[in-house]
Amino acid sequence: MKIPCKNELNSDNVELLLIDMDGTLGFSLIPEEDAINSALKWVSEEVTRIAGYLISEEEVMQLYKQIKIKQYKQYPLQTRRHDKRLRFTLLLEELSRSRHIELPANMIRKIMKIYWQVFQAEAAPYPKTHSTLEALKRRHKVVVITNNGKYEGEKKRRIFGLEPAKHYDLFITSEKLGGTCKPSEEYFKRVMQQVKSSLGIDVPTGRIAIIGDDPSGDITLANMSGVLSIRVKKDLHSSEQPKNDLEKACAEINEINELLTLL
Ligand SMILES: [Mg+2]
Repeated sequence: MKIPCKNELNSDNVELLLIDMDGTLGFSLIPEEDAINSALKWVSEEVTRIAGYLISEEEVMQLYKQIKIKQYKQYPLQTRRHDKRLRFTLLLEELSRSRHIELPANMIRKIMKIYWQVFQAEAAPYPKTHSTLEALKRRHKVVVITNNGKYEGEKKRRIFGLEPAKHYDLFITSEKLGGTCKPSEEYFKRVMQQVKSSLGIDVPTGRIAIIGDDPSGDITLANMSGVLSIRVKKDLHSSEQPKNDLEKACAEINEINELLTLL
């Protein structure tokens, strides 16, 4: 463990900011939960219609949760564990197998359509996100890092209105990192390789800060990698307590624009 601070942020000379996207720059995780719930409600109605007897929303949700746990185990620290299309596909396969029903091939397309409709209606950048990034970019190199794959990452980047050059210097989805996820030392190593090859800079860990909303992902990654950590207490994880020392951030803020006084 290489935790570089003990509840105290030494922000002098911070040169490189690695900023998470979902929950940190925009409201995203609660909309995602709502989108999943709406999609599962539709699945329950549709399979009930096809089977001719009730397959309840609770039952479908339970099955979805089991498949998610399996997916996380099957793809440890890999982006495929977050792949919702894969998860819904596995759900349909399991429903079809266990209920001996044939489900139409276009069901997955309809599920994803519902998912993105609900997500898009609720998700949004925080009011101060754009101006904060613009100001930070004048003083630091700003790199957005996300566990999302390319398709999902790009879609959310557009929903959050994040523009290259204006809001960030580099945008890294997990595809660019060979499908690896936070929080692993390999993830950090690959991010730094990307930063070096794309921005031409080699920044020592003492001059890097990771900013994120998820204690078990972003803050753990920062502490494992020996860089400063700043937690943004927003969205689904806002009131979560750190479960161990690795989840404790050097500094905590409630709004993204507080970064401007910290850094
Ligand atoms: Mg996040």
